Amino acid sequence: MVVSDAKLIVSSDNVIDVTDILTPEIVSATDYYPFGMPMPGRSFNSGDYRFGFNGKEKVDEISGSGNSYDFGARIYDPRLGKWLSTDPLQAKYPALSPYSFCVNNPIYYVDPDGNKIVVHYRDDRGRSHRVVIRKVADIEKLKEAQGFGQDMYKTLTYLKDDEHLQEAISLRTAVHTREVMGGDFVAFVPKENTDQSTGESYQHQIYFEAYDPLNLKDNDGNFTGEYQSPALGFLHEIGHFLNRIKNGAKQHAINSEIKKNPDGSYVDPIYHSPEEKNVIINVENPFAKKHGEPLRTNHKGDIGKPVENPSQHSSQTEGAGHNTRGDGGNNDNSNLPRTIPTE
Ligand SMILES: [Zn+2]
Repeated sequence: MVVSDAKLIVSSDNVIDVTDILTPEIVSATDYYPFGMPMPGRSFNSGDYRFGFNGKEKVDEISGSGNSYDFGARIYDPRLGKWLSTDPLQAKYPALSPYSFCVNNPIYYVDPDGNKIVVHYRDDRGRSHRVVIRKVADIEKLKEAQGFGQDMYKTLTYLKDDEHLQEAISLRTAVHTREVMGGDFVAFVPKENTDQSTGESYQHQIYFEAYDPLNLKDNDGNFTGEYQSPALGFLHEIGHFLNRIKNGAKQHAINSEIKKNPDGSYVDPIYHSPEEKNVIINVENPFAKKHGEPLRTNHKGDIGKPVENPSQHSSQTEGAGHNTRGDGGNNDNSNLPRTIPTE
């Protein structure tokens, strides 16, 4: 049922006063079959309301009222329960029909309104804003943003030429970024993902601090005096996120396992897990090389002295912090909130 924001006055005596009551204006009401076809005789529309199933716009010119929907990227026919064209990302989901809607399980899944990154932030007066990035050029929408919005503007601008960031923007799933506490600390929260290996929905959450660079260590655990930009840390976490989707939950968990010997030492003392090795070598280092940032040869390092700009990095020695980037290994995120698990 769709109710407008109009409030209709019901007066008992044709005089408008405090004894009158207000009734809502109902503009549309429909009962749907699971795949979205309107049940015959169980629909009402006031006339000019154009939206229906899943809040999407009806394209009644094609095949009658409520029988075609424009989901943006594709047209959907709720009588067939199928898209009228193939999934542009079908190569990523070989196990699924490129025409199927919601993995053929519309009761369980919501089709994510994908192909975007959504940045949530508050301005200096505490008002909430939400900026949708559907393509790289949309990053400019954040140009005047304040607070965390401005941090994301700098971060995304710095990373915009990177293929992995572009892939994150073009993913089928929507990715939300928001500040979770006061200050610069944020969680990166994709919503409503469907694991292609198990069919289960999940949330994958990662941490990123816009002002904390990574103070690098050599393989023996000594600081090298170089640090990477916080933005590169963001890209590193994007790498994990993409692998999580590509590999599925089971394989991702196997790849991410940090194996230890009975004496507590790491089986892989350099990279800790195959997943970290993959992200550092294939995602992080190619970008670092291109942008003159120091390369990492291991999965070590601590948070260094805060910088002013998320893309700032340097080879000068900075005071070593005490908490590691929140992504496995020897975590000591003692000053971070513990409500969200890190990876
Ligand atoms: Zn990592």
